Amino acid sequence: MSAENEPLEVWIDQDLCTGDGICVQYAREVFELDIDGLAYVKGADDELRTEPGAVVPVPAPLLVDVIDATRKCPGECIHMRRVSDGVEVFGPEAS
Ligand code: SF4
Repeated sequence: MSAENEPLEVWIDQDLCTGDGICVQYAREVFELDIDGLAYVKGADDELRTEPGAVVPVPAPLLVDVIDATRKCPGECIHMRRVSDGVEVFGPEAS
């Protein structure tokens, strides 16, 4: 099974976020800039997850958009990992 077909989750390392908002342009259902000017993930309840390392599931219909956001992120700080084993499949630590 390819990575694209497995449940994935996403988190942001705010220490590296530049606050440019590119991720929000790709997937505003998953990413949002908070009042501190940094991007955070949010879940299906639309609530920002502001605790460090907070993770939300990647909605299947938004998978391509979240992958694109991860690839374009200037801070290289969006991490997508497999739910099943926690391995990063898209992001700066993906092999
Ligand atoms: S694209 Fe990356 S650097 Fe830019 S706001 Fe989103 S998480 Fe931060």
